[in-house]
Formats: sequence, structure tokens, C-alpha cells
Amino acid sequence: MRNDVTTVHADARASAVEGRVAWAPARSLWWFAMAAGGVLAVGVFPSWSGLALFLASSAVTLCLGHSLGMHRRLIHRAYACPLWLERGLVYLGVLVSMAGPVGMMRTHDLRDWAQRQTRCHDFFAHRRGFFVDAWWQLHCELRLVRPPRFELPGHLADDPVLMWIERHWLLQQLPWALLFFALGGIGAVLWGVCLRCVVSLTGHWMIGHFAHRVGPRSWHVDGAGVQGHDVRGCGLITFGEGWHNNHHAFPGSARLGLYPGQADPGWWVLCALHRLGLVWDISLPATLPPRAGLQALEPEAARVLDTARPGPCIPRSTS
Ligand SMILES: [Zn+2]
Ligand SMILES: [Zn+2]
Repeated sequence: MRNDVTTVHADARASAVEGRVAWAPARSLWWFAMAAGGVLAVGVFPSWSGLALFLASSAVTLCLGHSLGMHRRLIHRAYACPLWLERGLVYLGVLVSMAGPVGMMRTHDLRDWAQRQTRCHDFFAHRRGFFVDAWWQLHCELRLVRPPRFELPGHLADDPVLMWIERHWLLQQLPWALLFFALGGIGAVLWGVCLRCVVSLTGHWMIGHFAHRVGPRSWHVDGAGVQGHDVRGCGLITFGEGWHNNHHAFPGSARLGLYPGQADPGWWVLCALHRLGLVWDISLPATLPPRAGLQALEPEAARVLDTARPGPCIPRSTS
């Protein structure tokens, strides 16, 4: 089942082009509320402990939750781990306040599908200018006229914990807000919830914006209307997710920073979990099935296909 989970099923009628961008009140108001709280954190409650809480909680939710739990495990199944660990990481991912696990899979897989078509709506491609794209991606949704069908894989649809998280994903801010309030008052809530959420949401959009428009590429995917680009200098703060050209080339790879100088903290954490015996069956470009239409733009880029060990971490299995 790994690396080939298809949730988006498109028949000949499905179109990635025809659609209308509409304001999404709930996510828009959430963003504005978090932004207001973030401004208050910095302006009215400046403190080093608030900054430390913001940095630590952002790192945990973005790296362990969003990147390792939601993206590399739940969506791409790029490695295997115990179910309790998967659920725990997905829970941390929900705290980024983007969507629940099912919503994340739907949004990600629909965009992936659209970007692989020869043409897609400007919304999917981040084709509009900076501010229009910001408005669209942070405050609106795309309503396709003829969308493909989304179907959750059975093992996820039958997971009661995952479905519980899906139903109550936004509420999960509440226990943490109460804990932060008990520890440090309203200032801690503003730094640890509001500022963290608005920076995470906005940063995620901004990386997606640049990663589909400008930047170096090592690979080209034939026939895809949208190519991924690496966002230079953002390896550390994106926990590896900024190496987006690699991700378009090898969506199922657990390692995103494949080349010298491409820092990938998410991969470092994965290697540590592997050494602890908590993670196995790690997929890498060399262990994935060959992909038709994938072209290396520089000869040395293709070296990642020669070895299943492009780093110190050895996958236990290459199946
Ligand atoms: Zn992409
Ligand atoms: Zn992905």
C-alpha cells in the first residue's frame, strides 16, 4: 500500500481548470483572529519566554506534526511506524490549524493531481501575483465545476482515532491554550497559539507560492503543467519541505533534501527515530518504482537513483 495510495479518482469529465475562487469565511476569520492575537503578542506582551514558547511549539508542530506526521507519513506513506506514533504525529500536525487529517489529504492530493495535468486553474499553480495568491490561499477556496472524486483509503476511514481528530481538529487548540494560560497567562496563549498559528499558516502559503514559481530545479516532470522549485535558503525553517523540486520528482521519498547543502531537519529526526527502532521501511528515490517522464536536468542529480543510501541513514527494507 505504501507510496501508491490514490485518494483522487478522476474520470474523463473531471477538470482541473474550470472553477471559481470563493471566500471561505471560517478559515479567513481564523487567520485574521490569529493575526490579531499575534500582533498583540509582539506589541503588548513582548517577552523572551513567549518567544521561546513560540519557537519551540512551532518547531514541534511543523516538523513532527506537519512534515513528518501529515505529509511524509499520512499523505505519502514514505515510511512505516507504529500506529500510536502515526496518530501522535498527526495530532501534532492538526495543531498547525490548517485542516484535519482528511482535509489535509484532500487539499494536498487534489493540488498534486491538478499540478500533474497539462493545464490547471491559477489557484492550484500559484500563478497569480503575491497578494492575490495570499488572499486566495489563506482566505478562499477553489470550487471546481467538475472535481475528481475523493475517496479516503479504507484503513484510514475505519480508524476511529483519526476520524475523531478529523471531527474535532480545530478544538485541539483549546487544551493547549488553557495549559499555556495556566503557565504564563494571556501572553503565553498569544505567543504559543495565535502567533504560532498565523506564522505557520502564512509561512506554509509563502513557501508554496515560491516553490511553484521560481528557484532551481534538478528534475523535470514531463507533461505536468506545474513544476516544483527548490526554495533556496529555507531548508532549516521549512524542516526540509522547501526542497520542493525533489518532492515533485519523488513524492514518495521520505527524504526531501537530497543534495549537498540541502538541510532537511525532518529527515534528521526520521533518522533518529529509525535508530530508536520506531521507524522502518523508509522510501528513498532509489527504492521507489521508476517513474515515466522524469528527467534529470543535471547529470549529477540522477546519482540519487544509484544508491538506496544517500546519507547516513540506512533503510531497513527497500521493498
Ligand atoms: Zn508542489
Ligand atoms: Zn506531498
